[in-house]
Amino acid sequence: MRVLIIGAGAAGTVAAMAVQKAGHEPVVYEAYEHSAGLEHGIYLGVAVNGLDALRAVDAQHVVMSAGFPSGRMTFYSGTGRKLGEMPMGPELSDGSVTYTVRRSDLYGGLHQEALDRGVRIEHGRQLVGAECREDGSVVARFADGSTAEGDVLVGADGVHSATRTVIAPANPGPRYTGLGDAGGFARDVALDSEPGSYVMIWGKNCFFGYTVSPDGEIWWFANPPSRAQPSRAELRALSAAQLRTRLIDLLAPDRSPGAAIVAASRRDRGGQRRLRAGQPVRPAVRAHLVPGPHGDHR
Ligand SMILES: Cc1cc2nc3c(=O)[nH]c(=O)nc-3n(C[C@H](O)[C@H](O)[C@H](O)COP(=O)(O)OP(=O)(O)OC[C@H]3O[C@@H](n4cnc5c(N)ncnc54)[C@H](O)[C@@H]3O)c2cc1C
Repeated sequence: MRVLIIGAGAAGTVAAMAVQKAGHEPVVYEAYEHSAGLEHGIYLGVAVNGLDALRAVDAQHVVMSAGFPSGRMTFYSGTGRKLGEMPMGPELSDGSVTYTVRRSDLYGGLHQEALDRGVRIEHGRQLVGAECREDGSVVARFADGSTAEGDVLVGADGVHSATRTVIAPANPGPRYTGLGDAGGFARDVALDSEPGSYVMIWGKNCFFGYTVSPDGEIWWFANPPSRAQPSRAELRALSAAQLRTRLIDLLAPDRSPGAAIVAASRRDRGGQRRLRAGQPVRPAVRAHLVPGPHGDHR
């Protein structure tokens, strides 16, 4: 069976490995040219159900070799009061817990793993339409005018999935949550927290969280509120300095290290942004989608 998988993100590459393992022929179609997009983003938590899914295709090493275990999270109020502590999900039977990993390591690692296994990934192929034939086969149409034929079409093309729109045009699409999304890496802030343990702070103006990697780097995220959904152009126009200033203002009233951590985040040597802004959206409908890894923190 030939399986057309739309999107070469985490979901698409893992779906391809699963399809291949089941004895079928996957082909992945990715909108971006070459490996564009693999270096974007900050980090995410791959919860144990995500690790379990990777284990099902013998790919858990991608996360476990690049990330670090994150077993617990502790919640505080903006006044510094400890609200509670809990595990980051249950342990797997072998004792594995949630892992935290840079998004680029996760995406690059899964992409390479799929290629190493002989999965075909075609770049520059943006799905714009698809039709079912009477014999049950499917024809996918791409923006460059090309087509592909297969037996099954799998949508793994993210929260704004074109596949979902093609399959279910009436679906309500993703919904803006009213929160922004920013994150980064910092060093040289004195913190009293164990590596791998998350600290989450329900601040007066802004939710903030961080964890410390085994080598002492602080990995943080913040969810600044924004009633109106910023446009992509507005987000692109926001400089790292402007974002830093806004977050520091929001976090300053709290008895937490949030403002100091954001202030300590700088551009790295390669000029790559260590601060990133985005806007979390939640799909209102999950049907027809291959879900991505759960437990995203940013
Ligand atoms: C640039 C970016 C940065 C992110 N950074 C973070 C982060 O730092 N931390 C975090 O927790 N989460 C982040 N996320 C969200 C997180 O990565 C995803 O929610 C999660 O990994 C879901 O994975 P996915 O494979 O389902 O979808 P995605 O990661 O969105 O992958 C979907 C893939 O499909 C491709 N695609 C989209 N439309 C089409 C089309 N029509 N035809 C063909 N291909 C298409 C996209 O180019 C992409 O490669 C980020 C997402 C993006 C897009």
